[in-house]
Amino acid sequence: MNLDYTDDQKAFRDEVRAFLDEKLPERLTEKGRGTRALTKADHEEWHAILNEKGWLAGNWPEAFGGAGFDAVQRHILEMEMTRAGAPRIVPFGIAMLGPVLQKFGSKEQQDHYLPRILNGDDWWCQGYSEPGAGSDLASLRCEAVRDGDHYVVNGQKTWTTLGQHANMIFCLVRTSKEGKPQEGISFLLIDMETPGVEVRPIVLIDGGAEVNEVWFSDVRVPVENLVGDENKGWTYAKYLLTHERTNIAGVGFASAGLDSLKRIARAEQDGDRKLIDNPHFAARMARIEIDLMAMATTNLRVVSAAAAGQAPGAESSMLKVKGTIIRQEINALTRTAVGPYAMPFQSEAVEGANEAPIGPDYAAKATGAYLNNRKLSIYGGSNEVQRTIIAKSMLEL
Ligand SMILES: Cc1cc2nc3c(=O)[nH]c(=O)nc-3n(C[C@H](O)[C@H](O)[C@H](O)COP(=O)(O)OP(=O)(O)OC[C@H]3O[C@@H](n4cnc5c(N)ncnc54)[C@H](O)[C@@H]3O)c2cc1C
Repeated sequence: MNLDYTDDQKAFRDEVRAFLDEKLPERLTEKGRGTRALTKADHEEWHAILNEKGWLAGNWPEAFGGAGFDAVQRHILEMEMTRAGAPRIVPFGIAMLGPVLQKFGSKEQQDHYLPRILNGDDWWCQGYSEPGAGSDLASLRCEAVRDGDHYVVNGQKTWTTLGQHANMIFCLVRTSKEGKPQEGISFLLIDMETPGVEVRPIVLIDGGAEVNEVWFSDVRVPVENLVGDENKGWTYAKYLLTHERTNIAGVGFASAGLDSLKRIARAEQDGDRKLIDNPHFAARMARIEIDLMAMATTNLRVVSAAAAGQAPGAESSMLKVKGTIIRQEINALTRTAVGPYAMPFQSEAVEGANEAPIGPDYAAKATGAYLNNRKLSIYGGSNEVQRTIIAKSMLEL
């Protein structure tokens, strides 16, 4: 495999850099890099800028309004955006639901929802997990009972990321209790403004509340909001999860995190030398960098297969495990690098209070990011469960 970019790919990379130089608002990069949390409006602003350029949905075919980028172009765009400190593209509509609707949705659903995702008319969230149905997702109980031309939904979803911003939720619901649990699940699109939907925040270990519980009490959902066939939702859910896991590898985030760690190690003093010149610290950084380079290559392999029309298989589990370990190691080493300034827990600074952070700016987020990113090895299917998938389907154990 030739890993050098072709002339065309280099030209595309230059085009992306020029676009980011011109269009990425400095206010957003400063917020992302510094101590302030990005708001819904910040994300929407960045989505709109990308959409105007036609690059918001790099992974979608042009027929659906996407950029139709190949795997390498998508990789370049992701790398350049994260390196430039751009906000992440919120994945729920673009990376998760979009591909499912394109493959399994009706023409009406495609025509209605896909443009709304691109234009920012809808903010989607993901209603898969429930209390008691996380790793064992097929045991989910949130129920949808057919009543004429509606389903009536009752039950609870949990850990719903950014559900507080969303007006739409794609849900796995139980439509049958017959047979295997996987055979009674359907994929339903629910308007969160329907009477009976309630969103309750969950405060996390870093002090933020990016996840929620979503409760449904006699929520009436039109039958045309069913994706594909009734009781076939498990197939669509699995297809979506493979896309979610590739996205979770986060090569760009890891590269940006490593760049930031290097900047900190160059700035921090370690006795009479800079921290980056401490051989023990430098060796730990090098090990992360080698792992990251290996993962970036695997990521390219998986996205090329996806570009050739295959849904990524167990390789996306590999990427999920490795990608999340690398990012957590970067967080841990960043805390080590900022030393005592990692001690104060500055959630107020991160959430936007007026108080200046204690110590250098780059230290303020170290502990919050370390704590928040414990989630990486849990969501999108826990790393333990991913290892079982790898053992079964790749190692045939
Ligand atoms: C910050 C955050 C955001 C999330 N966002 C969303 C979202 O937007 N939408 C959504 O639907 N869900 C979301 N989730 C839920 C996430 O997908 C689940 O937390 C995850 O699937 C694990 O399920 P659980 O929490 O019920 O843990 P459990 O499944 O109860 O697992 C508990 C522990 O047991 C281990 N374990 C479980 N089963 C096995 C097994 N068979 N073999 C080995 N070990 C096992 C797990 O690895 C874990 O360590 C989010 C979670 C977090 C933490």
